[in-house]
Amino acid sequence: MIPANVRDNFPILKQKMNGKPLIYLDSAATSQKPKRVIEALVRYYQEYNANVHRGIYRIAEEATQRYEASRAKVAAFINARRPEEVVFTRSTTEAINLVAYAWGRVNIREGDEIVLTEMEHHSNLVPWQLLAAEKRAKLKFIPFDSQGVLQLDEYERLLSERTKLVAFTHQSNVLGTINPVNEMARKAHAAGALVLVDGAQSAPHMPVDVQDLGVDFFALSAHKMCGPTGAGAIWARYEILDAMPPFHGGGEMIMLVQLDKTTYKDPPYKFEAGTPNIADCIVWADAIDYLQGIGMAAIREHEKQLTAYTLSQLSDVPGITIFGSRNLEHRGGVVSFELDGIHPHDVAQVLDQEGIAVRAGHHCAQPLHRRLGVAASTRASFYLYSTEQDVDALVRGLQVVRRVFSPKPAPVSGA
Ligand code: PLP
Repeated sequence: MIPANVRDNFPILKQKMNGKPLIYLDSAATSQKPKRVIEALVRYYQEYNANVHRGIYRIAEEATQRYEASRAKVAAFINARRPEEVVFTRSTTEAINLVAYAWGRVNIREGDEIVLTEMEHHSNLVPWQLLAAEKRAKLKFIPFDSQGVLQLDEYERLLSERTKLVAFTHQSNVLGTINPVNEMARKAHAAGALVLVDGAQSAPHMPVDVQDLGVDFFALSAHKMCGPTGAGAIWARYEILDAMPPFHGGGEMIMLVQLDKTTYKDPPYKFEAGTPNIADCIVWADAIDYLQGIGMAAIREHEKQLTAYTLSQLSDVPGITIFGSRNLEHRGGVVSFELDGIHPHDVAQVLDQEGIAVRAGHHCAQPLHRRLGVAASTRASFYLYSTEQDVDALVRGLQVVRRVFSPKPAPVSGA
């Protein structure tokens, strides 16, 4: 159960927008931050701001200890075997780019194939396009059906001995579809390929166990799970990280530097060149403590119920097309829709006047929208602090949108 007073933990939700209470329905873009996370950031800068892995004075040691403790916390959160399997990055985007660059450049050769899906965020598409162009490799795409569910029979047909990697999102940021990771990973491994999962939309919203999922890489972002922006991670099995060359070169990732050559530290430090994002990585641990205090299973259950409520309430809005599956076992708290004839930007602008924040556009998933046959959609997305009252406000807001954009009656002639 989500505590009844959970919204009190989020100072931003007390604000008014255009004189109306802020209804924040854009948590898939970034989550709001609880007070304890905001305070932990201030505490870092006020009490122990120092560079990590360098100084031997007290506050530098404290910063280093907390930075490494946060790595251990992220590792435990996703059930990694050891903290060294977690490399801090700036975001999911950087995490995937790290794999495409460091792993991809030595493991992908001309004629190799990388299997993706048609529902990927650009973060899990463009890095592979760049790699494929450089290596003359081929990208193949698993299609999804009219319910927004991946067509696994097609997936099996795409796999071959040329497949080196299968990379897909755990939960779609547009359709909400939760993909069957275990089954997909088993099939990829049987074909001899590695598996990367984009966990940007799953890690914040459901229990995640990377060992149980049976994957090789898992990417996530702190800012979508009550943590600060600018912190993320790539998890990979230690042997894989150990065999990979570095991503960036620079300070702190080295063992010995000579003018003509360098030897590198072991993972994860080999992949963390330069001063990392110390404050935000440390404070990510506070966000995880907060989420675990509530419970990831409780968060998933809350969002499931809220999504069921939203699907039923929105179905009554005239002219609406809701994308994605109605099966709540395989759908997270993201509801994208189209309101006939009204551009999503217009929908979002009118909703903003009502104090309601939704996302309008392609949500960094242009091929997905093309596949749906629309250029853009409006998206409401939830988190632990979202309520049925938020959804009711959205439905009322959409009625205002329809009034604003309904065709005006023609003037009566002679009047
Ligand atoms: N993957 C998915 C499914 C996402 O929804 C997002 C962000 O919206 C990303 C990747 C990229 O995350 P970030 O912007 O934190 O790198």
